[in-house]
Amino acid sequence: MKNRILIWHRNDLRLHDHTPLDAALRKNAVTIPVYCFDPRQFNTTSFGFPKTGAIRAQFLVECVSNLQHSFQALDSNLIIRLGKPEQVIPQLVEQLNITEIYYYQEVTTEEVAVETAVKQALDDRHIVIKTFWGQTLYHPDDLPFDRSNIPELFTTFRKQVEKQSLVRPSLPPPQQLPPFPSEVDPGEIPPLTHLGLQHTQPNSGAALVFQGGETAGLARLHEYFWQQDLLKTYKETRNGMLGANYSSKFSAWLATGCLSPRYIYNQVLQYEDTRVRNDSTYWLIFELLWRDYFRFIGAKHGNRIFLRSGIQGLSMNWQQDWQQFEQWQKGKTGYPLIDANMKELAATGFMSNRGRQNVASFLTKNLGIDWRMGAEWFESQLIDYDVCSNWGNWNYSAGVGNDARGFRFFNITKQAQDYDRQGEYVKHWLPELAALPAEKVHEPWKLTTVEQKQYGVQLGIDYPYPMVDLFQSAAAQEKRYNAAVRRAKA
Ligand SMILES: Cc1cc2nc3c(=O)[nH]c(=O)nc-3n(C[C@H](O)[C@H](O)[C@H](O)COP(=O)(O)OP(=O)(O)OC[C@H]3O[C@@H](n4cnc5c(N)ncnc54)[C@H](O)[C@@H]3O)c2cc1C
Repeated sequence: MKNRILIWHRNDLRLHDHTPLDAALRKNAVTIPVYCFDPRQFNTTSFGFPKTGAIRAQFLVECVSNLQHSFQALDSNLIIRLGKPEQVIPQLVEQLNITEIYYYQEVTTEEVAVETAVKQALDDRHIVIKTFWGQTLYHPDDLPFDRSNIPELFTTFRKQVEKQSLVRPSLPPPQQLPPFPSEVDPGEIPPLTHLGLQHTQPNSGAALVFQGGETAGLARLHEYFWQQDLLKTYKETRNGMLGANYSSKFSAWLATGCLSPRYIYNQVLQYEDTRVRNDSTYWLIFELLWRDYFRFIGAKHGNRIFLRSGIQGLSMNWQQDWQQFEQWQKGKTGYPLIDANMKELAATGFMSNRGRQNVASFLTKNLGIDWRMGAEWFESQLIDYDVCSNWGNWNYSAGVGNDARGFRFFNITKQAQDYDRQGEYVKHWLPELAALPAEKVHEPWKLTTVEQKQYGVQLGIDYPYPMVDLFQSAAAQEKRYNAAVRRAKA
């Protein structure tokens, strides 16, 4: 009888560039793909938010469903279960006489704990467990440093990698698969209600209809690169906030593994060969390197990226002021740029990079609120939630990560002027400010009583006053930050 290899799918919901699947097929084995909806992923976070919010859960369900269809189209199937992998996998091993298990390893606490639990549950059986690396553009074995010596600074990391490492080729999707064993029920996607969530309708104001799955991810790439020819201007547009095309929007498909970064890289090279090679084509790879960097930093520092004191071990006096936090979370800070972004996040599960940097800066550098509350809220809401990118970026924004430049904060009104000069973005998400002229929309607190009447916005009623003074609050937080740095050095 042929070897039966169970492929445990996690954040790798694709057929293209799938090393474990490719390795199993090379062994001429029967491949048995499995996905588990782990109930722990649908609990609450430590601050009490749904760990996977409804919009992200919907996206995930679409990804898994698409993968099942893709397997079915090749006469195979995907086994879907609602249960803990350490319980589901041993049962399948027993039932289907599995001989080997292949999967992509993860690097962070919860994910590694599940891997350990699976291994322990299979301890007494003679099963070969083989792990692969697959989330990043560069393979760790091809880096010019070993994993424990990843440079702390992004620029150092990037320069050395660009000079000394090569990206491995992206693997094509399989054209055929061995028949799927008839004795097992593949199972079905659990309805969201079984995950404790309600289905939400897509928001009509969203930047893009984010459809989960490899098929939709590949289609988005095709559209962005080849149909609309947008890659050639990516560097100039990427700081936008409104609409589908200012940036690639690949993140949600990357986070779920529907798109492989090596495939994107490969497509960029083709684009450079056949269309144009310029700063923009380079810049997309540059951004993928940020993603790699956070993954390798996450692997290097382990649990520290989740600690209040962050990678730096900086002991700051963060506040857990729920009233202020909720004003931020619900988009009621009185700063239109912050409020519009927080409303977009809650309504759609997405926020631009520019928006994320501003709202994270405001929460940590102006309100002085425990950055982990922000990170957990993002974890709950973002459809592109990626454990290392999220917690790594939050470390960075809060000043407890490896940003060498000391205390920095975003001047929110300047950012708004620079990146939303006409106020179109804030008006899109804050219709109560729609009648304001562009030069007033980012600073509504300056409206006179006459102007408030004229534009139909009564401050304190239709739109809040700013909850803090931007510069005073940042100065107070800077003092706390400097004191913490002094304590750390003492
Ligand atoms: C506080 C905060 C939290 C974040 N949380 C996440 C997260 O959970 N998941 C996530 O994928 N990104 C996260 N980011 C990074 C970034 O904001 C998103 O990747 C980006 O906005 C997604 O949009 P896009 O795909 O159109 O990006 P593009 O501008 O088109 O970039 C292409 C790809 O490069 C990668 N990338 C770009 N910027 C970054 C970055 N700063 N860090 C890591 N990767 C990057 C992403 O994979 C992205 O899809 C976070 C940023 C901040 C400041």
